[in-house]
Amino acid sequence: MTGPERRRVSIFGATGSIGQNTVDLIKRDLDAYDVVALTGARNIRQLAADAIHLRAEVAVTADETLLADLRDALAGSGVQAAAGEAALLEAAERPADWIMSAIVGAAGLAPGFRALRHGTTLALANKESLVTAGPLLLAEAAAHGARILPVDSEHSAVFQSLVGEDIDTVERIIITASGGGLRDWPEQALSNATPEDAGAHPTWDMGQRITIDSASMFNKAMELIETKEFFGVPPSKIEAVIHPQSIVHALVGFNDGALMAHLGAPDMRHAIGYALHYPDRKHLPVARLGLAQIATLEFHAPSASRYPALKLARAVMETGGCAGCIFNAAKEVALDAFLARRIGFMDMAGIVEDTLDVMSSKCGLSNAPLTLEDVLHTDQIARDMAQGCIAARIEQKETN
Ligand code: NDP
Repeated sequence: MTGPERRRVSIFGATGSIGQNTVDLIKRDLDAYDVVALTGARNIRQLAADAIHLRAEVAVTADETLLADLRDALAGSGVQAAAGEAALLEAAERPADWIMSAIVGAAGLAPGFRALRHGTTLALANKESLVTAGPLLLAEAAAHGARILPVDSEHSAVFQSLVGEDIDTVERIIITASGGGLRDWPEQALSNATPEDAGAHPTWDMGQRITIDSASMFNKAMELIETKEFFGVPPSKIEAVIHPQSIVHALVGFNDGALMAHLGAPDMRHAIGYALHYPDRKHLPVARLGLAQIATLEFHAPSASRYPALKLARAVMETGGCAGCIFNAAKEVALDAFLARRIGFMDMAGIVEDTLDVMSSKCGLSNAPLTLEDVLHTDQIARDMAQGCIAARIEQKETN
């Protein structure tokens, strides 16, 4: 008699916050998996340690200058070392039953697309894939008989609430937001917030970029766009609500008035584990909620002036085309400028709006990219434009 078949799994962005939570789940049940590829960028020590522990076929760093370090760290382990963009794509081509897409930013796009070619299940944490290239990504999956499962906790919650339901009966999808690290700051103080202030999250433990995006609600803005792309519902049916406890992750309202809520502890291993075992449910090492201890669940409408990213997201959803790609590129560039202390916290939304305006007047926004290359090309132009908008804003501030 043979035991249950071992599943081949790869983790892209293994050294990050989502990646490490995924590694944790795999480590707990190592006999069930053959690990194909683990990838990272700068954290070579973690990448090598996990690749050895999980007995991966290959470990890839995106940073070619670190290949020698990776080779040294893997010496004698039998794990292959590779580096650079081509190596990431080669790793994505290696057949696997389940692939975690958890590289941060637009760099996660191409490996995800490549992985779909062999009809795998892609567990999608990388928000940028849906925001910049949602229709293309879904078409690629359909063309190759591949499956995409959402890993963002809100989208996993919506997905779980929709099991067995007809999407046409959905009246509204409500995703919740913690409000981020600056939630209780007076609005007029927000322009003075530093990356350290915005980088501390009240409920979730996440990577630095997404934590700052939570404080600005750019993260929620991305999630609104993701919801539209993934579930194919019109923007008018999608809303965000502030829920400081981060216990209810999303709600789905149906045409009979029922509102289904998904509750869980703020631990990404739930959404990752659900995607890992789907369509089954298996035991997961996440805290069980004590409702009596929680006692209160609060919900507030987000203020438009405090969170301008939400209004921008609505415009992007209504426009479609390449607006999501420009939005994401400008947001990434603006975040880099904020982290480098070149612009203030509230300037980030201004830069994204300026970039959308400039791109709209130069080439229009409604043309949808037809290929991944189109997406990457638009992404690059939008980044250059966003840099121009930042320079203009800094110059204007200096003259004033
Ligand atoms: P982290 O910053 O913690 O990790 C990012 C990962 O990507 C690391 O493995 C990093 O390597 C790698 N990486 C960085 N730059 C590159 C590059 N240019 N090419 C290839 N790999 C690169 O991010 P998170 O885990 O927080 O987020 C990952 C994705 O998941 C994001 O898209 C985020 O929006 C999304 N997400 C995250 C959630 C969370 O709870 N953290 C929740 C829902 C979605 P290294 O560290 O070695 O440099």
